[in-house]
Amino acid sequence: MNIKSIVSSFINRKIKKVEPLFGGDINRAYRITTMNEIFVLKQNSSKRFPEMFKKEKVGLSLLSLAGANVPKINCVFDFDDQQFILMEFIEREKNIERDFWINFGTSLAQIHLKSNTHFGLVFDNFIGSLQQQNTFENNWTTFFIEHRLQPLVSNSYDLGLLKDSHLRNFDGLLKQLDQLIPKEKPSLLHGDLWSGNILCGPQQTAYFIDPAVYFGHREVDIAMSFLFGGFDTDYLNSYQEVYPLEPDWKARIELHNLYPRLVHLLLFGSSYLQGIEKVIRKF
Ligand code: ADP
Repeated sequence: MNIKSIVSSFINRKIKKVEPLFGGDINRAYRITTMNEIFVLKQNSSKRFPEMFKKEKVGLSLLSLAGANVPKINCVFDFDDQQFILMEFIEREKNIERDFWINFGTSLAQIHLKSNTHFGLVFDNFIGSLQQQNTFENNWTTFFIEHRLQPLVSNSYDLGLLKDSHLRNFDGLLKQLDQLIPKEKPSLLHGDLWSGNILCGPQQTAYFIDPAVYFGHREVDIAMSFLFGGFDTDYLNSYQEVYPLEPDWKARIELHNLYPRLVHLLLFGSSYLQGIEKVIRKF
C-alpha cells in the first residue's frame, strides 16, 4: 500500500496531496493535504525505534500541559513493521521577528517551571535515534553522570570512538561535577533543543517539535541553544523575566553540552570528537 491509501484508511478522509518533507535525520516525513486540513506524517521502523512516536506524542503533550505551543497530534499508528505519527502542519512565517524570540523565551521558561520531585521520567525515550535512560534520581549530577554521560561514553569507547586517555579525562571531570553545577529543582526539559526543533508559526508564535523530554537541570536546554547556532540569544531576556537563571550559568554551557556532543559523536562520527576533547581537558 502507498502512503496515500495507508493514511486515508486510518483517518477516514480523502487525501488530495502527499509531498515529501526534508530536513529530518531519522524519519521519512510527508506533508499531507486533505480537503480541509494539512498534516505532517512521519514514518519509521517500529522494530528499530520501538514506540518512538507514542513517546513523542506524550512528550509533546507534557510540553503543551506546561503552556508551550506544539502541533496537535491527530493519531499514532502502526502498519506492517512501520510506525506513523500524524500531526498538525505548522505553517511557517517567512521572516522570524523579535516577537518570536520573546514568545520562545517565555514559553521555554514556562516549560522549565513545570517541576517534579525527581530527575528523570516514568519511561525511557529517544534523543534523535538514540535510546535515552530516564531512571529517576534525587540528585542531578547522579542522573547526568549515570543516565546521560556514562552510557554514551561507554558506547563510544566500545565503538572505538573514545580512547583510554579520554576515559581518564572523563573520570576526572565527573568527580568534579557535583561542585561545578549548582543545585536546582528538576525542570521539565525539551531535551533536544537545536534550532531545527523550533518552528516560527503564524503570528510569530513559537512551536516546539521533536522533544526528548525528561525532568532535568534547565541549563541543559539553555546550553544546547548555544551549541549549533540558529537562536537569537535575546530570547534569554524574556526567559529570565519569568524564571531567572543562576548568575554564572554561562560557565556551565560546555559541561551540559557534553551530552548532545556525545550523542552527535555516536550518531555522526569522530568529527564531533574535537569539541568533546576541548571540554574534558579544560575541566
Ligand atoms: P526528524 O527526522 O529529525 O525527526 P522531522 O521528521 O521531525 O525530523 O522533520 C522533517 C521536516 O518536517 C523538518 O523540516 C521539520 O521542520 C518539518 N516538520 C516537522 N514537524 C512539522 C510540523 N508539525 N509542521 C511543519 N513542519 C514540520
